[in-house]
Amino acid sequence: MSDEKVSKLEILKEGSRQLRGTIAEELTNGEENFSGDSAQLLKHHGTYQQDNRDMRGKKNEDGTSAGKEFSCMVRTRIPGGKVTSDQFLAELDLCDDVGNGTVRLTSRQGFQLHAVLKSDLKRTIQTINETKLTTFAACGDVERNVMCCPAPHNDNKVRQDMQDMADVIAEHLKPKTSSYFEIWLEDENGEKTNATEFQPVDEPIYGPRYLPRKFKTAIALPEDNCVDLMTQDLGFLAIVEDGEIVGYNVFVGGGQGMTPAKKTTYPTVAQKMTYVPTDQVLQVAEAIVKVQRDFGNRLDRKQARMKYLIADWGIEKFKAKVEEYFGGSLPEPHPADVTDVDDHMGWHDQGDGRWYLGINVENGRVKDEGDMRLKTGLREILKKYGMPTRLTPLQGIILCDIEDKDRADIDQIMVDHGIKAADDLSLTRRFSIACPALPTCGLSVTESERVLPQVIDDLEKVQAEHDLADERISVHMTGCPNGCCRPYTPDIGLVGKARGKYTLYLGGNAPGTRLAFLYKDMVPLEEIAATVSPILGYFKSERSNGESFGDFCARKGLDDLTAYTEAL
Ligand code: SF4
Repeated sequence: MSDEKVSKLEILKEGSRQLRGTIAEELTNGEENFSGDSAQLLKHHGTYQQDNRDMRGKKNEDGTSAGKEFSCMVRTRIPGGKVTSDQFLAELDLCDDVGNGTVRLTSRQGFQLHAVLKSDLKRTIQTINETKLTTFAACGDVERNVMCCPAPHNDNKVRQDMQDMADVIAEHLKPKTSSYFEIWLEDENGEKTNATEFQPVDEPIYGPRYLPRKFKTAIALPEDNCVDLMTQDLGFLAIVEDGEIVGYNVFVGGGQGMTPAKKTTYPTVAQKMTYVPTDQVLQVAEAIVKVQRDFGNRLDRKQARMKYLIADWGIEKFKAKVEEYFGGSLPEPHPADVTDVDDHMGWHDQGDGRWYLGINVENGRVKDEGDMRLKTGLREILKKYGMPTRLTPLQGIILCDIEDKDRADIDQIMVDHGIKAADDLSLTRRFSIACPALPTCGLSVTESERVLPQVIDDLEKVQAEHDLADERISVHMTGCPNGCCRPYTPDIGLVGKARGKYTLYLGGNAPGTRLAFLYKDMVPLEEIAATVSPILGYFKSERSNGESFGDFCARKGLDDLTAYTEAL
């Protein structure tokens, strides 16, 4: 163990025998919950221990405290969101079997099961692995799920090559520890995981303490930044010439989390650092990860994301260090930048004689509720047609490889189950996402997922009042400033600040190319639409040709918007 001053979590990771800790022992100790140390290590295995926030403070019949209602969130790591129908069906079965009857599609193209009891955790993870998916490294201080544009356009190789690249990066940056296999996948007769038998494996990229903090990577196209590339630690923007990817612009240092009380924390958008030909992507990715590993802040976790290292050093010094690790100089970036975004919803010609269908899933929650029976309808479609699927970064689903003759039947199944087609939804709803927040997230200060549908209803009304019903206005909402749903770059960002109150950000945009600015703090939930309404009116009367709402707000700026609304 080194003498460097580091946080407690660094000491825990380093002493954990490559992320084993006492997880295996605690799995069979009869307790309802894991210890704090194990809960931290569990994240690297794809699991967050949580407690039902709705139940906190509840009393038993005899007046005693009911205590915490513990359960686990189990996240699956799926590079590019590529899922077979069997894998999807297995996840739907699992949510009924061990979860809360819903599957959540995450904003990083993964699945989440909620409310899994500790006693069901091992078989849940085993079942996921039996479908050839994994929860390993879905969370924790490692490379998280590598995102990639999921659209299955097969008229050229571009999207397929990007998706292959996502797989290759994910595999290359995967931790090598065998702890996951030992803890979750070996049967009762398997090797025991006690300290005397521990044989470390080489972790050539991560070393004994893994990374100082989580690390996020995504791959996008300039005209389709559906993965929100500039919010990631590391982004690869494909440069296409004559229908082929020749290389990637490399963006570094994006990140969304912040703590308002700590002025040294802030969201950032990634900076364009260099260009790499396709055959050097892995070496450059590895060099960047290793620079963050060796120089990222390990004392203060609130300063540990790579964005702070880059802010501290400046992009030139950071690039020079990456060049040192890479072993050669890196060129200036290609001029290409992000220009637009697509949500891939509705019917699209795949370019190979077949079709794909994007289905919007409000807040990514696959469930049956009232007349909207998405879970049942999806089951029926997937069982009948067995098509491959994709999970989108806006928490939606793409059904792939559909024959033209089957489209009408699939449309009918959707109608029969109350599943809305993309054309029946406003663009604002299609481009809205929320984090789970209450009741499952231990960090949330207020609601997000459970209230966003109402917020969108209200925004749709005021958009219609201003004759802006068809306008694409992206809305990202979170239950706290940690920013899991990337709330600091869309047209409208809503960040939970206190119970029922939100910080309202304006001036980002749907393609996610810049940070929004703080327009108003502590806006009550029920006043969000009314607060935005006058600015929509201003936008309607003074927008320039084709200007988006976010671009308009950014052009006018905070002072002008404030002066305008105060003069009303
Ligand atoms: Fe939880 Fe905050 Fe992340 Fe939402 S943004 S999931 S409330 S940590």
